[in-house]
Amino acid sequence: MEKYTTLYDVLIIGAGPSGSNAAISYKNLNPDLKVGLIDKSIFPRDKSCGDAIGPGVISALKRFNNQHILDNEPQVVSTTLYGPENIGIQNYIPEVKNKEDSVVYVIPRIDLDNRILNLAKDLDVDVFEGYSFVSFEKDLDNKLVVEIKNGDNITKLGAKILVGADGANSRVRKQLNVNTNSDWHKAIAIRAYIDSPNYLEIFKERTLMFEINVSAEKGYAWAFPSKGNLLNIGIGVPLNIFKKEKLDINVLLQDFITQLTNRGVVVENIRDEKSYLLPFASSRPKFRNDINVALIGDASSMINPMSGEGIFYGMEAGYLLAKNTYNLIDSPELTKGIADYEKAFSKRFRKHYLSCALARLLLQSPFMTKRLLKVASNDQNTIDFVVELLFDEAYLTFGEVMKIVYKFLLPSKVLMLLSKN
Ligand SMILES: Cc1cc2nc3c(=O)[nH]c(=O)nc-3n(C[C@H](O)[C@H](O)[C@H](O)COP(=O)(O)OP(=O)(O)OC[C@H]3O[C@@H](n4cnc5c(N)ncnc54)[C@H](O)[C@@H]3O)c2cc1C
Repeated sequence: MEKYTTLYDVLIIGAGPSGSNAAISYKNLNPDLKVGLIDKSIFPRDKSCGDAIGPGVISALKRFNNQHILDNEPQVVSTTLYGPENIGIQNYIPEVKNKEDSVVYVIPRIDLDNRILNLAKDLDVDVFEGYSFVSFEKDLDNKLVVEIKNGDNITKLGAKILVGADGANSRVRKQLNVNTNSDWHKAIAIRAYIDSPNYLEIFKERTLMFEINVSAEKGYAWAFPSKGNLLNIGIGVPLNIFKKEKLDINVLLQDFITQLTNRGVVVENIRDEKSYLLPFASSRPKFRNDINVALIGDASSMINPMSGEGIFYGMEAGYLLAKNTYNLIDSPELTKGIADYEKAFSKRFRKHYLSCALARLLLQSPFMTKRLLKVASNDQNTIDFVVELLFDEAYLTFGEVMKIVYKFLLPSKVLMLLSKN
């Protein structure tokens, strides 16, 4: 008897942006591949998120001419940062070096993820919605037998490569015996939607507002404008601090809403509060893989530890995995292709992640946050660099560190004088 009903070249667990973009990438690189995509939810489905996507996601969509899914969405033009004692700076999103578009969109994930999944469906990817991944085992001929279930209905599928794109609580990762990140390398965050008829008026433009070390010590809060009066708001803190100080995520959200109101923002119809974990890329999983299973996105701890951005990195991982393996599906070299994907991803993002992890440490100190915002408000290069860490792939070089240390040490008045000249 066959061990499975259908054999897939590529079987992906999780149809979020990482999994869907992996499917899109494989099908674009080789339309003959048989690709399956499995998700426990029925789409459209909500996901707790700030909903902000920047230049990286736009370039990932452009790679296969899919940027049309962003048509008619309003563009965000700036970022506003607040720190302790109400120090604030507003800055245009600077030209990012590695990407064509210096633009951000805020699109509710219930919509965005469905649009990306539909791109995969248009490419004849077999999508199983409402099916949960249960387990996998290796076959004698190196294929994987993957068990999925929908209620009591259990199905077994075959796969030449299995991709775990099943998010922060990945079961595929668990079955690989790879531990989840320690609390130190994770954050907990809550998102809510509100209506605000005057947000754009208060900030004079469509701006992403970040608040560091104010409503949550060692954490950050955000208010991101979407279409019309819709605003995505939220707050997050490192999980170790959350547990140590016995914080309540709903109370933190309430504190941030009070801060927003104090800034004059009208807050109406608070709804859809949802919290979730963010596995930071400051601790990436390392595992020796002798089977053809790969992890991408949150399942592989790819979230930027400074900004909380994860959609771009997960989508790019899906593409890099496809690029390194699509022509090795029937080759004994497939396992090496997966290792090459890991190397390519690390090579591209390691220094960037490290720099963002350092910035996160710096910004956990209220004193340093204040100092950084003071320096940045007098020095365009510093704020441009901070925004590039947030929205591009910037990293700290030795020279950059020395420049920042020097600026941190200079009295503000001297820095102001220098920046005027
Ligand atoms: C509060 C908050 C705010 C954030 N804000 C931003 C932001 O503004 N911008 C940004 O870029 N990132 C943000 N992130 C991070 C971002 O949400 C994630 O990095 C991103 O969703 C990762 O995509 P993914 O496809 O890897 O995983 P997910 O989007 O989590 O998708 C995983 C999919 O797997 C499915 N799944 C899970 N388990 C199983 C199973 N056993 N069987 C079958 N299917 C399964 C789930 O249903 C889900 O659809 C935020 C995260 C949080 C929590």
